[in-house]
Amino acid sequence: MASAPTLLNQPSEEQRRLVRRSKELLPAGTTTSVVPPDGLEFIVDHGEGAYLYDVDGRRYLDFFLGAGPLVLGHAHPRLVQTIQQNAVKGTHHFGLHRRTVELADRLVRYVPSAEMVRFAASGSEATFHALRLARAVTGRQGVIKFDGAYHGHHDLAVWSYEQTPIDGTQPTAESRGIQAGVAENIVVLPFNDVGALRQALDDQPERYAAVICEPHMRSIPPNPGYLEAMREACDKTGTVLIFDEIVTGFRLAPGGGQEYYGVTPDVTTLGKAMTGGMPMSAVVGKRAFMEHFDPASAPQQYAFHCGTYNGYYLAAECAHTTLDILIEEGGIEQLHHLGSLAREKLERVFVDAGEPVSMNGHGPMFHPYFSERRVENNADVRASNLEKSAAFHCKLVEGGVYKEFVKGYVGLPHTEAHLDELARVAAWALAQLKA
Ligand code: PMP
Repeated sequence: MASAPTLLNQPSEEQRRLVRRSKELLPAGTTTSVVPPDGLEFIVDHGEGAYLYDVDGRRYLDFFLGAGPLVLGHAHPRLVQTIQQNAVKGTHHFGLHRRTVELADRLVRYVPSAEMVRFAASGSEATFHALRLARAVTGRQGVIKFDGAYHGHHDLAVWSYEQTPIDGTQPTAESRGIQAGVAENIVVLPFNDVGALRQALDDQPERYAAVICEPHMRSIPPNPGYLEAMREACDKTGTVLIFDEIVTGFRLAPGGGQEYYGVTPDVTTLGKAMTGGMPMSAVVGKRAFMEHFDPASAPQQYAFHCGTYNGYYLAAECAHTTLDILIEEGGIEQLHHLGSLAREKLERVFVDAGEPVSMNGHGPMFHPYFSERRVENNADVRASNLEKSAAFHCKLVEGGVYKEFVKGYVGLPHTEAHLDELARVAAWALAQLKA
């Protein structure tokens, strides 16, 4: 039997009051679609390194990392210093700052598909604008996305990212209130299925403006040759290939998934890890495509893109500091090292407990699916034991380990001792589920 971790104390009356108040004020007691399980809600006080602390001072070893941006962990001293030193220059000017131009320069240097850059504030904005750009360039309407892929919250994105089975290639709306007509232009295909993609594009070669994919789809890596086949199929039909690298950018390699897997898309979205936790994203791509954001270069096929906070100055400064650490100082290599350790240690725990597992993830990402077979697409996710997985993740929280239900991230403040703690709490959690 795994030794019991120190369990979280019961929340104080003050924390319970804040949780109750949050449910009265914020629908579902949250500001996102991530609704905390009943009884495991907590109110954050602060983060420090690899840990998150709630208002009672209860400590959580954090593998959620702010949903991904916090590759340097919480309140990294150099990011804090960057913010303190530069806030006196003003946080935001709208006008282009030297550091924002210099950041664009860096993105072009690192990311294979990047010849030009546009900044935005969130990942959803970036995918929205990448898709609009593809439509403006091609004059076509259709978009192919993959079952289980998440691209944000706008009308073109909220399709088939949960576990609801898809009906052929029909998209499943994940929200009400989507503008009428959008569904007609979205086709959903299984990830890692070359035949399905080739067939969709061959059947209607003039229909699709874009194929949008996460090169490493949530916790599912691409099979060897899959992204290459996607590139080839898009080339054949003049379809814009968009890699949504909001998660994989600056995490799998300096040039993201496209460098790591060796396949260059036409347009790429970047965000999350880029700034270490400040709201900023980017659409980057080949010049011939990106020029459509310029009304003078492409008056007939112009794609409107604007935003008060685009290129936000203080975020740009934080991006420079983050990219220094990740790229110039070997941070990404260390993330890979920690990621493989996390997968190895966690897999051992499942094997020792006799619990079938598909240990997924490349680089700094890890996720154990409760599955007898290797998880390669969203149908495999649906076939896995999701109920048991949810119960396992709730137990992790009770044991002071915080991890998203669909993905885990390691960050630079994690140490091997933290990963041993993850393994210890996971072993206890599995034993609890069996008991
Ligand atoms: N694309 C991917 C791959 C993402 O993981 C996310 C966020 N989880 C988004 C887009 C949307 O980003 P944001 O939440 O910043 O709008």
